[in-house]
Amino acid sequence: MSVRELVVLGTSSAVPTRHRNHNGYLLRWDGEGFLFDPGEGTQRQMLHAGVSAHDVTWICVTHFHGDHCLGVPGVVQRIARDKVAHEVRAAYPASGETYWRRLRNASAFADTDVITPRPVSGELTRWPSGPVTLTARPLSHPVQSYGYRVDEPAGRRMLPGELARRGVRGPMIGELQRRGSLTLPDGSVVTMEDCSAPRPGQSAAFVMDTRLCDGAFALAEGVDLLVIESTFLSGESALAAQYGHLTAEQAGRIAAAGGVRRLVLTHFSERYTTADEPRFVDEVRKTYSGEVVTARDLMRVPVPRRSAEAGG
Ligand SMILES: [Zn+2]
Ligand SMILES: [Zn+2]
Repeated sequence: MSVRELVVLGTSSAVPTRHRNHNGYLLRWDGEGFLFDPGEGTQRQMLHAGVSAHDVTWICVTHFHGDHCLGVPGVVQRIARDKVAHEVRAAYPASGETYWRRLRNASAFADTDVITPRPVSGELTRWPSGPVTLTARPLSHPVQSYGYRVDEPAGRRMLPGELARRGVRGPMIGELQRRGSLTLPDGSVVTMEDCSAPRPGQSAAFVMDTRLCDGAFALAEGVDLLVIESTFLSGESALAAQYGHLTAEQAGRIAAAGGVRRLVLTHFSERYTTADEPRFVDEVRKTYSGEVVTARDLMRVPVPRRSAEAGG
């Protein structure tokens, strides 16, 4: 069964709090598992969330501030200890190669050769990965930061009613899908267009530590699920500007511009408590009318199904 969901492992910026671990997010997508920004404590949070090192196929680090990467050593060593056999690709800003090497080899352990580095540079990087494409784009932060996006290619869904009406059944369906058209015993020709409808691909984006910038808007364009930092409320917009972060209001603007379907706010400053969550939603509501989730540790957020699929 295909699973497409975000498993939230941690939601705090800068320092962990009693209720929020440092960052950590596993996007499970069919057989792929994109582990974004494993902060300190991610290995144990994975245990609490019921996900294992075997679920990870990518480690994607946005930047090398500690709240986004100090969990890399624990995750890497757990991948080795648990003898994960599949390749685990690791994307991170190429300018932080020194930090990556330190984190990758932080202490003595029986190493693994399944982790393969994919340093990111430039304006746009794409990697095919199983059923999806992973894209990286630069963000704007005091240190080089990249956001990521996962896209499923558009396809077509078969319409059982149309197939039945034309007498296309059994192995004929596979042949129609392979060849695009089919000649029936009575000589008539049936095409894929007759018996299927366009199915837009699903997509999700991950935008951490950034000011408002073109990369953030491009990553969020048209996605079903946007996970985005909203470190501050607007009352602290001077701090947000100074440290290169977003306010909730700005995160809402990015989601509104992109037509995002489900928005997940996270990376909260330690000055806020869970009692402040409605204030984040209120700020987002000034511009964005879609679904808003204020992330908490160990929450699971499904990638919303496309309405075309729900209708089929
Ligand atoms: Zn951060
Ligand atoms: Zn940062």
